[in-house]
Amino acid sequence: MKTVTDTEAATGINCQHFINGQYMESFNTESFENINPANEEILGSVSEGREKEVDLAVSAARRALSGKWKSMTLAERSKTLRKVGDLILERQEELARLESLDTGKPFWLANSIDIPRAAYNFHFFADYMTSVGTEAYQQDEVALNYAIRKPVGVVGMINPWNLPLLLLTWKLAPCLAAGNTTVVKPAEWTPMTATVLVEICKEAGVPDGVVNLVHGFGPDSAGGAISEHPDIDAITFTGETTTGSAIMKAAAPTLKKLSYELGGKNPNIIFADSDIDEVVDTTIKSSFINQGEVCLCGSRIYVERAAYDEFLEKFAAKTKELKVGDPFDETSNVGAMISKEHYERVLGYLDLAKEEGGTFLTGGKKADGFDKGYYIEPTIITGLDRGARCVREEIFGPVVTVIPFDLEDEVIGQVNDSHYGLSASIWTNDLRRAHRVANEIDIGIIWVNTWFLRDLRTPFGGMKHSGIGREGGAHSFDFYSELKNVCIKL
Ligand code: NAD
Repeated sequence: MKTVTDTEAATGINCQHFINGQYMESFNTESFENINPANEEILGSVSEGREKEVDLAVSAARRALSGKWKSMTLAERSKTLRKVGDLILERQEELARLESLDTGKPFWLANSIDIPRAAYNFHFFADYMTSVGTEAYQQDEVALNYAIRKPVGVVGMINPWNLPLLLLTWKLAPCLAAGNTTVVKPAEWTPMTATVLVEICKEAGVPDGVVNLVHGFGPDSAGGAISEHPDIDAITFTGETTTGSAIMKAAAPTLKKLSYELGGKNPNIIFADSDIDEVVDTTIKSSFINQGEVCLCGSRIYVERAAYDEFLEKFAAKTKELKVGDPFDETSNVGAMISKEHYERVLGYLDLAKEEGGTFLTGGKKADGFDKGYYIEPTIITGLDRGARCVREEIFGPVVTVIPFDLEDEVIGQVNDSHYGLSASIWTNDLRRAHRVANEIDIGIIWVNTWFLRDLRTPFGGMKHSGIGREGGAHSFDFYSELKNVCIKL
């Protein structure tokens, strides 16, 4: 296995593995091309890791658990994580550029949300780790119980392509804060920012072997090897529900601890008493930001009949103003879809919407004016039945369905008639109704009169097929720690 110089790899353009503090090619120099979805040009090459590379990374991570990392004080570890956040901010524009090249998302979006939030994930957990506690119970005059936290061990991280650095740091920061070591696998379509992040971790003082990176695909590649590896103790996974199932199956023989953030088909529930202009402004974002490729995007919109026409008219007018364009043009609101495969999948849903009797109020096709790249017009579909596949299945693109409702119970029934349960936005000025509906819907993350407002201390995760477990604040620490109870007889 050939090692390469840091400067060669740390640009993120040619993406190598990072094992025990060094960039490395694959044993057999196997690699694949990384394509820019905005113009279909080749960005660079990505080493493909399999069992052997994962094995090497796991051994490095296992050794690092008991080395310098273990002996660092809480204050030293916290300072190191803070430094990672600082260095991300120092390289913000460079990282935002790579994220935009890799994903097709507008540069302004990566530069204003993805990268600052990645830095904040480290800053937040650097602070949080210094105050997180455990439980203690006195059992009458008989005994005292207290719990202590230990790292889980070597954690495998399998990540999606939609918010690559944001979601990786959301897991990596608490994982390191809790004293674990890790083997990270970015999505094959978005390898660049992770390749830079590992070097940033090293520069910040994270000891070699604590953060390892292996690139590759899912089954029969790096993802499969991580899922099956007998010396990985836990896996944190964000991605599609069906992939979650496959990983669970592969991880079952070695009984790994699992945390899952999976797919969604998130409802926006709009009551007529809400401020429709405010609803429209936020719904434009919750529908089309990041080309609709955010797990929390609201893609099935239910509007109380009294406000249905007004909402649709204003929502369609604003949607038509959105500019689909080059991710590096700062006037572009919507960039390119992640890949040809995903682009075709979303276009397939637009064909299906027609077959299912839907009407396109806006969009409904690929965007005009592009010879290359995977651009789709923001699309609003009406007239679909609640049972339509386009209303029930996750499309993960700039496509929403809008359906009217008459009664509160009726909309609650429709919202709950789904095997997903990730997030929802409820819009109403009736306080009691907001509480009632929030209580009744089977959803893990609920916003009232807003969307995507995040406090990182809160439990984050989905119900039903949208996830297993919660991350955020103490919930992250619970996943990334083993809790040991000590009972002392008095
Ligand atoms: P994906 O499931 O296709 O891939 C995610 C990762 O899993 C990639 O790194 C991939 O290489 C790997 N993988 C694929 N098959 C595997 C296998 N059999 N074994 C091991 N690894 C495997 O998901 P995606 O297309 O990258 O991301 C989009 C999906 O992620 C959407 O469903 C979206 O809703 C979901 N998502 C959820 C959240 C959340 O917080 N709930 C956040 C972001 C994305």
